[in-house]
Amino acid sequence: MLQTIRCIYITINMKNIVIFGPPGSGKGTQSNHIINKYQLTHVSTGDVIRSEIKAKSEIGQQVESLIENGQLVPDQLIVELLAEWLEKQNDSNGIIFDGFPRTTNQAVALKQMLQKQGQDVDLMLSLEVPKEELVSRLVKRGQDSGRSDDNLATIEKRITVYEEVTAPVIDFYKKENTYVSINGVGSEKEIFATICSHIDTL
Ligand code: ADP
Repeated sequence: MLQTIRCIYITINMKNIVIFGPPGSGKGTQSNHIINKYQLTHVSTGDVIRSEIKAKSEIGQQVESLIENGQLVPDQLIVELLAEWLEKQNDSNGIIFDGFPRTTNQAVALKQMLQKQGQDVDLMLSLEVPKEELVSRLVKRGQDSGRSDDNLATIEKRITVYEEVTAPVIDFYKKENTYVSINGVGSEKEIFATICSHIDTL
């Protein structure tokens, strides 16, 4: 009985947030601030894929060249990886999804996965940053981090993929009434304050 009450309590209080935006918009940076303040569990599908590549797993080997070329990993593969990750989660205050969904199919899949646990995406934060700013941030990040996809040609390709395939995900969340646009240009602190003002309404 106590366990049941506890589960209901957790489910009601969970906040599931999608942090969305083009490459270089600050999703990872702002996710870190959000996790610290709200004790959410963070999942970055980019990180999940990079660790598969590093571990030279079968999946990692399949997708390595796609990532280096700035292309997306096929929906089915990434959805399976995320479903596997999600199954292992319990007892959290909610999850921040960073870099997922990146296609409308993925958004539908995420809704179905969460629905099975009586949950949904409560908020979709879309970071808006002009293209020139994205390119200069990513070129700089490439110099510091050495990430293989942070070179000029791949950056341009990733931004195009974002505009063509990923940006339509915004329409999905507009229909769900969870979409919020955030100005991603400004100080990290200012942007985080705006994000908090939205999370605090949940
Ligand atoms: P960024 O937002 O800077 O592009 P990420 O770490 O989120 O960085 O993603 C790096 C790469 O990993 C993407 O360019 C893509 O190839 C792959 N990837 C990450 N998430 C997904 C996803 N949800 N669907 C398909 N591919 C993905």
